[in-house]
Amino acid sequence: CYSHPFWLANKSKPTEYWDYENSVLDFSSIEPYECIQKIGRGKYSEVFRGRNRNNGEICVIKVLKPVKTKKIHREITILQNLYGGPNVVRLLDVAQEPQTETPVLVFENVDSQDFRTLYPKLSSFDIRYYMYEILRTLHFAHSMGIFHRDIKPHNVMIDPTQRKVRVIDWGLGEYYHHGTGYNVRVASRYYKGPELLVGHRMYDYSLDVWSLGCVLAGILFRKEPFFQGKDNIDQLVQIANVLGKDDLLAYCKKYKIKLDREFDELIVKQNKPKVTFQQLVTPSVAKMCEPVALDLLSRMLVYDHQERILPHEAMAHPYFDPIRAEAAATAAAA
Ligand code: ATP
Repeated sequence: CYSHPFWLANKSKPTEYWDYENSVLDFSSIEPYECIQKIGRGKYSEVFRGRNRNNGEICVIKVLKPVKTKKIHREITILQNLYGGPNVVRLLDVAQEPQTETPVLVFENVDSQDFRTLYPKLSSFDIRYYMYEILRTLHFAHSMGIFHRDIKPHNVMIDPTQRKVRVIDWGLGEYYHHGTGYNVRVASRYYKGPELLVGHRMYDYSLDVWSLGCVLAGILFRKEPFFQGKDNIDQLVQIANVLGKDDLLAYCKKYKIKLDREFDELIVKQNKPKVTFQQLVTPSVAKMCEPVALDLLSRMLVYDHQERILPHEAMAHPYFDPIRAEAAATAAAA
């Protein structure tokens, strides 16, 4: 009998909170904003660093590509509902290009460092600090009935000079309604949970914990991405090479999931034994891969989404003792 603390989060909210399909958007003028430099190009947008001429503030301008109105409403209402939450990127304005009627999202700017250069430089304390901050964001979003569904290093902006973290790109975010089947074509391949890879639509918030577990594994083992599948099928094979096939089969049995025949050849017949994370530790990563870190990791990277540690439970894990101790000392000094 599975009970997630935020199963019914949207039941206690008014319909307008989650009913994005019927939300009415109020667009402001694009006139105050000028683009300075292109900083990113995603599947769904072009992103610029820009300036608000009215107050001189530097901002980030995300010009959406023509995608379904429904998706646009979903992203905007999620950003509005989560506004001001811990480390949630702040949506400052929603404008519209007058000719094309293209929606333009204006965000606070984060001077983030590329994760490829940042992650290798992080100390053990830094890793704990940033992970704890992202878990706070997930706990908050989930408590608000929302899951991100695309957690990956590219969507976690970190400015190490200010120790600032922002979770961005809520474009695949969704409102969770218990008993609803969701599209499994979400998240980026290397961060897709087993539930997505086996096509189990009845997944929930715990998907974000898997994805974050992949990020943590990548940092600890200095292997980004940690599970690097060539395609979705190979992605599950890569996972099974570490977590083993027995637990995967037990997971499928529990939820009456039928694995594709291809998996049968690749996973079941290979009969690879489960390895512990400890067995994967090499001398060069031993410093970061302390047993307490691997213990947390082994609770995040669990096939069965219902058995994965919850964000607030993860925050209470001994791995974060130094973070909680520092926060308590700061509070006492204030
Ligand atoms: P994708 O196809 O990767 O999902 P997308 O079209 O949904 O992308 P975003 O992920 O929101 O767009 O933004 C694209 C890129 O722009 C980000 O990877 C990041 O480099 C940059 N970016 C977005 N928002 C910010 C911000 N607030 N501060 C700094 N950089 C940002």
